[in-house]
Amino acid sequence: MSTIRPYCFNAGPATLPYEVLKQIQDNFFNFNGLSVLEISHRSKEFDEIIAHSKALFIELMNIPDNYEILFLQGGASHQFAMIPLNLMDKSADYVITGHWSKRAYSEAKIIGDAKIIFTSEYSNFSNVPKSYQIQPTPNASYVHITTNNTIYGTEFHEIPDTHDIPLIADMSSDILSRPVDVSKFGLIYAGAQKNIGPAGATLVIIRKDLIAKSYRNLPNILKYSTHAENNSLYNTPPVFAIYTMFLVLQWIKKNGGLKELEKINIEKAQTLYNEIDASCFYKPNAQKESRSNMNITFTLPNDDLTQKFIQEAKERNITGIKGHRKIGGIRASLYNAVTIDDVNVLVSFMKEFRRRLDF
Ligand code: PMP
Repeated sequence: MSTIRPYCFNAGPATLPYEVLKQIQDNFFNFNGLSVLEISHRSKEFDEIIAHSKALFIELMNIPDNYEILFLQGGASHQFAMIPLNLMDKSADYVITGHWSKRAYSEAKIIGDAKIIFTSEYSNFSNVPKSYQIQPTPNASYVHITTNNTIYGTEFHEIPDTHDIPLIADMSSDILSRPVDVSKFGLIYAGAQKNIGPAGATLVIIRKDLIAKSYRNLPNILKYSTHAENNSLYNTPPVFAIYTMFLVLQWIKKNGGLKELEKINIEKAQTLYNEIDASCFYKPNAQKESRSNMNITFTLPNDDLTQKFIQEAKERNITGIKGHRKIGGIRASLYNAVTIDDVNVLVSFMKEFRRRLDF
């Protein structure tokens, strides 16, 4: 397929499995002559999409019974606010490993006593902490981490143990890329537009005892309890995004589930890191033990070469590799829908480019 479609390494919204896109196209009018865009979110058909999507999340992520799955809106950014609004009592702890965790922290700071208990800003966010570096403060309602830092290209490979203090994780850019032990978390959230589906849907997996905390004096739309009680149908949900997510989940299951995807994701990332490590031409942003398997970031010797690299890549139908404006350079995002063939095309180009310059 990649011969007709660009080799797309977008950071999000990102490429989706071609089979899923084709399925949407082929079955577009399959709801009794209507499309999913036109049917009621309270119809039997849409109810089934919600129910099957939840069941698939439970199966794929092995989610225990004492968790609720919510499909919300507003993206991960909305969760930056909802989490402290619903769950912060006296204070909450934040682990700062990049732009998005900083954002989460600044929103929490508006609401209450948010504390920074670790930051890797000193290293230009090139690492995530080791578990022992995360020491919750007394009275913290939760500890917040960002498991994968989309902009800087770092990822937690070991989930910290915060004991009886709920661990909350923004998994926007590595959800469904590998198995995780959900029972270690109080709440997991993710914007959909990388590994789950299109922008518009936001996944929240929340431990039921934390929902009980959210019966606070807040507007109903902002309470987890409202959405849990209404099966994520308190108001009109983003139907198309949820439908696509449902198809993506089926695709993941068909492709062997998260263990299998993790194997492929490691292979893809390793292929690219091997090329980066093969010379001093490409300089990785992330320290080795913190390297992300989803977003691979690196720089070239200077800006002119970076521009030339991006331009020549484009001529080879390789897109979406320009680094985030915060750090520049190159970023290749290798979400689930990116194939090993796509990565091989990028890596061949990288080899050829550096060899031409005698590296
Ligand atoms: N967290 C992470 C890790 C992200 O990568 C992003 C966006 N790319 C966000 C939060 C913000 O997500 P949204 O645009 O869905 O609010």
